[in-house]
Amino acid sequence: MTDFLFAPSPQVYVPVEGQSAVFPVHRIYCVGRNYAAHRREMGGDDRDPPFFFAKPADAIVLPGADIPYPPRTSNLHHEIELVVALRSGGANLSEKQALEAVFGYAVGVDLTRRDLQNGAKDKGQPWEAGKAFDFSAPISALRPWTGAPPQGNISISVNGQVKQSASLADMIWNVAEVIAEASKLWTLTAGDLIFTGTPEGVGALMPGDKVEGAIDDVGHLAFKVL
Ligand code: MN
Repeated sequence: MTDFLFAPSPQVYVPVEGQSAVFPVHRIYCVGRNYAAHRREMGGDDRDPPFFFAKPADAIVLPGADIPYPPRTSNLHHEIELVVALRSGGANLSEKQALEAVFGYAVGVDLTRRDLQNGAKDKGQPWEAGKAFDFSAPISALRPWTGAPPQGNISISVNGQVKQSASLADMIWNVAEVIAEASKLWTLTAGDLIFTGTPEGVGALMPGDKVEGAIDDVGHLAFKVL
């Protein structure tokens, strides 16, 4: 029995629709620029391969919880994203194996301190301050899923106004490809979450904003910025 100096951090989890057992989170991977129109609004090139960054597991914000406006930014952006949850893993997965590793899907928001991210890009510095901050990963309950990934609409509204709305079919790299690519870089494991990128229309959130995200057949997410 390991003798810890103090109590280890609690296990981060995401609730699962229709059952009391929850999904224990291992890592959070995120894909950058996975929809052509958003890639263009960020100044990228459609021929670039997918790239990944990460958030700490404890950036997760449980469904129903509100989000404190984060420090050191004046340009907090919403990025609505389909989140894939893995029930198994491995390295160098084929696309077929990748889909077999899926436990389910959720609606997530990749909250971004855009001013800090842009500053890091300009200086060639890492993205953690812009992406991997506290409370930066609100998520819905997971919907268990087998078979072909969801293909419906993904959208987010702020104070009732639609800001992002697109089809999941517009993803440059589909769910199977994203998982397979990630598994070439890391050995994936049960409990991993992958935020699969956001469509065009990202924009700023302010204290007091009411945010609602939805993905057809997957779920719904709502929070207020405090
Ligand atoms: Mn994103």
